[in-house]
Amino acid sequence: HAKQQGRNRCELFSAELQQCRLERRRIEKVLRQALANRSFELHYQPVVDGVSGEIRSFEALLRLKDGEGNLISPSLFIPMAEDQKLICAIGEQVLHEAMRFAATWPEHVSVNINLSPRQFAPQENNGSPLLAILEQALRETGISPRRVVLEVTENVLLSESPDIMSQLEAIRALGFRTALDDFGSGYSSLSYLWKFKFDSLKIDQSFAKAFSSHSCNLGEIVRSITTLAQSLQLDVVAEGVETEEAAEFFCQNGCNALQGYLISRPLPATDVAAFILRNAERAHDAPLLAFAG
Ligand code: C2E
Ligand code: MG
Ligand code: MG
Ligand code: MG
Repeated sequence: HAKQQGRNRCELFSAELQQCRLERRRIEKVLRQALANRSFELHYQPVVDGVSGEIRSFEALLRLKDGEGNLISPSLFIPMAEDQKLICAIGEQVLHEAMRFAATWPEHVSVNINLSPRQFAPQENNGSPLLAILEQALRETGISPRRVVLEVTENVLLSESPDIMSQLEAIRALGFRTALDDFGSGYSSLSYLWKFKFDSLKIDQSFAKAFSSHSCNLGEIVRSITTLAQSLQLDVVAEGVETEEAAEFFCQNGCNALQGYLISRPLPATDVAAFILRNAERAHDAPLLAFAG
């Protein structure tokens, strides 16, 4: 009897596994098609100054639609694109499109672009170093590199590639700004902060989640991060800010900028210009309320 049950469980398990494989294959197909047809979409989420509420930048976030128009989450398809060695080609399209678009915004508004660790490995980039791809994107779009913030997670710093630090330094030497994304979500060794000079640090959204569950000591933890960041002259952005209380909490504990649904969800490109206009009017009328709604 027990054996019978075990077998049933196995069958159930393998049916789920099969379902999983089919789903993977379906998404892989959508990925390849999107790459061939250049039908990825970028959405843009504003990052605002914690005091004035003024827009500092928009983060470009990839969106993939399947044949029926359903959105597939980046946390699902990006790891697949990495496994399938498609991420470099996708990432290159993202760089060009986001930089071209940002070049049309007011000078004081920057664009944040996420980089996968794989983009630092020339053998996965058809032999092109990331630096050459970035230089090409600058030439083609005409944007100042000061207005482009390249976001990496600590995975980039953990990766095998021996020359990561020199690549990051060369990127900064070109004039790009850099941000350490999802800080506090993984192993986040503090040594990354002094081994490489980032321009900003983004506090992972798990902190905003923990805030809403009223965990103790969170203020002290955030303050120790922002104090350290200040001494290294890093700007600190709080991610995943969904409520006024969370915004106030992060600002009081030393964060300079806020990003999250409280300010805005990621917007389709067609809504960006209107958001910039509205933000400018509001910041002028009522600076402290500028980011609400
Ligand atoms: P990320 O870079 O940390 O981006 C922030 C994520 O948080 C986005 O998820 C955004 O939609 C979400 N978010 C923003 N505000 C809130 C909030 O208030 N509440 C909650 N619950 N979530 C919020 P998204 O767009 O699903 O992207 C997930 C991850 O996929 C990104 O995390 C990034 O690591 C990766 N990704 C997205 N676009 C790209 C890309 O072009 N290239 C690469 N390599 N990775 C990308
Ligand atoms: Mg990011
Ligand atoms: Mg993040
Ligand atoms: Mg993330």
